[in-house]
Amino acid sequence: MLKKELVITIDGPSGAGKTTVSKMLAARIGYRYIDTGALYRGIALETQRQGISADDEDAIALACKSIDLRFRIEGDDLRLFSGDRDISDMIRSSQISMRASKVSALGAVRSFLTVLQRRLGEERAVVFEGRDMGTVIFPEADVKFFLDADTDIRAERRYLELKARGDDIDFDRVRRDIVVRDTNDSNRKLAPLKPAEDAVHVDASHMGIEDVVDKMVAVVTSIRP
Ligand code: C5P
Repeated sequence: MLKKELVITIDGPSGAGKTTVSKMLAARIGYRYIDTGALYRGIALETQRQGISADDEDAIALACKSIDLRFRIEGDDLRLFSGDRDISDMIRSSQISMRASKVSALGAVRSFLTVLQRRLGEERAVVFEGRDMGTVIFPEADVKFFLDADTDIRAERRYLELKARGDDIDFDRVRRDIVVRDTNDSNRKLAPLKPAEDAVHVDASHMGIEDVVDKMVAVVTSIRP
């Protein structure tokens, strides 16, 4: 157990393994973990359900007022609920990935989720993963990581994940979608994807997941109280 309750952030591009690594790191140090991409996906899904175009910021801003997203921990799993509905599986399709990347560029969505994410960080002892956790949401985080990997390796990982879900998808399409999302996420005006100046960079291209987590645990446990 750590001596102090820290806020830890892990940012990086799609498919770098942030979710797996965050979950494992959190379990190793007895922290909670929060997958903030799920929140953007939740907004994408719920506004789609209401028939709102991904570019209609006014309508999306209005819809956010009545969207009630909450995480619930079930066993080892972090589930996302919209009201009483468990939407954790529905938000994982490639279509929702692309829509999440679009709606995440809107100021109304980012400010709505900023409040929610900061509230989730109030109790500390948490690992947050996303795109702007260390740069915008928690600039004062105690430890910041930027997790990256080669595009082909990230695409392969996402492809296997989608296949395992039973999605009928080909590798080239998955790779193309990842590149489009990274380009959108890195070039948007608000909270673009980039490493925080004080982030520890981890390139997971040629490292096993366990090694990545060991490295992070070593960094985190080196923090003095
Ligand atoms: O991490 P994940 O792939 O689930 O994120 C889905 C999308 O949500 C990303 O492509 C990005 O556009 C957006 N996102 C974001 N800021 C975050 C987390 C995710 O803009 N902190």
